[in-house]
Amino acid sequence: MTFDVIVIGSGQAGVPLATRLAAAGKRVLLAERGDLGGTCVNTGCTPTKTMMASARAAHVARTAGRLGVRVPQVEVDLGAIADRKDAIVRRWREGVGKRVQVEGLTVLRGHARFAGEREVEISGEIHKAETIVINTGARALVPPIDGLGETPWLDNASVMSLRDVPSHLLILGGGYIGCEFGQMFRRFGSRVTIVDHSGHLLSREDPEISCALEDIFRKDGIGLELNAKVVQVSGGAGAIDVRLDGGKELRGSHLLVAVGRRPNTDDLGCDKGNVALDAKGFVVADDEYLTSAPGVYAVGDVLGGPQFTHTSWDDHRLLFDLLLGRSRRGRRGRFIPYTVFTDPQVAGVGLTERGARERGLPFETATMAFGSIARAIEVDETAGLLKVILDPQSERVLGASIVGPEAGELIHIFVVLMQGGATARAIVDAQFVHPTFAEGVQSLLMKLERYALR
Ligand SMILES: Cc1cc2nc3c(=O)[nH]c(=O)nc-3n(C[C@H](O)[C@H](O)[C@H](O)COP(=O)(O)OP(=O)(O)OC[C@H]3O[C@@H](n4cnc5c(N)ncnc54)[C@H](O)[C@@H]3O)c2cc1C
Repeated sequence: MTFDVIVIGSGQAGVPLATRLAAAGKRVLLAERGDLGGTCVNTGCTPTKTMMASARAAHVARTAGRLGVRVPQVEVDLGAIADRKDAIVRRWREGVGKRVQVEGLTVLRGHARFAGEREVEISGEIHKAETIVINTGARALVPPIDGLGETPWLDNASVMSLRDVPSHLLILGGGYIGCEFGQMFRRFGSRVTIVDHSGHLLSREDPEISCALEDIFRKDGIGLELNAKVVQVSGGAGAIDVRLDGGKELRGSHLLVAVGRRPNTDDLGCDKGNVALDAKGFVVADDEYLTSAPGVYAVGDVLGGPQFTHTSWDDHRLLFDLLLGRSRRGRRGRFIPYTVFTDPQVAGVGLTERGARERGLPFETATMAFGSIARAIEVDETAGLLKVILDPQSERVLGASIVGPEAGELIHIFVVLMQGGATARAIVDAQFVHPTFAEGVQSLLMKLERYALR
């Protein structure tokens, strides 16, 4: 059949793009080989954050004594936690199912691959369109480690199907996925060891941000093996051995592999569609999402940029306007915030200090401990710090990083400031409600000499 637009993948960009284009009068085909809603809904944000809420509840109950509230015994029922997670995922997925019931939109369930330029094959049938959008996302990367193929291991999807708490969960990868699962399972009662080849967890952060999280993890009883390269894994169900460079051996009951994501392009027929990929298999596209093939665009994680739901969603917004000729605004120059949903959270936007240095930019920086924020003391959540990087000439914020309670909410103060092109003085001159964590953002800025009260 011939359509105006074919969207491959019902991810965070694909669904809104397909439904809005159909509502705008286009004949649209949306192809999905798995569950509607993509990674975020089914195996990413929604299930992890649902389960993290249970992990936090267990932690709050266990540590309530410090606030004078004694909880005699805390029991974690992983089956019940998984059931609650499944119910919420189902609800979101069904919601997506309803959203795609739009006139002009055909949804085909099946694997799609390019059969030629502007041609896509799904379940043996060829479909054509002037415009094709790739939103096929990414999946867990399987590292080439000796023995991994013969050893049972878990990825982000299968680890959330466990119904019994592992006695010792070994995690390969100290990025955000490894950190979130590590703390989650520690709080469910597992012994947890995270192994990473770099010197710090969340290695893209400035060291003091990573160190703050590492201190918190160590206090939670999470084992960290940093600067450690895994050379071999072996074993079977319930007894997994991991050998590190240097000879150290770790034994756990389960192994979670969370060392990165690989794009879903290996089985997409990109060669037939003349869609160029980079060395890692990510789709190459210009500022306006156009790939090497005329009329073929790519959005979301498959592009290999920052892989977040809000970024993929924003891709849809920009591409929709580009396709309809409403704007020529591309994706470069966007501020892309992120949050690691550990407890406390880690959040950032813009440049780190290291990033500013690497670019040779002039900057001023200030840091402040959460322990000096009244609210943090009152609720006894004092671990963490805030950090800001300021351009001394323009007084614009170049970047901010926060590890601490509600970091994922607080970072939006900087996001809006930066997006609006305002100077940091806007924060200094505003009134912040007392006692809130947000007051800490204002106090942080006042740590800079230029804003200090005298
Ligand atoms: C454990 C985990 C936790 C996460 N937590 C967060 C978070 O808290 N916040 C956040 O912002 N981001 C989070 N992410 C990242 C987020 O899930 C992704 O960035 C987001 O889903 C955007 O993906 P996308 O739109 O590119 O595609 P996806 O959501 O991955 O969707 C791609 C879709 O394409 C389909 N598909 C692939 N190939 C084909 C084909 N050939 N034919 C037909 N269909 C195909 C897939 O089945 C899938 O449904 C998390 C990810 C993981 C793994």
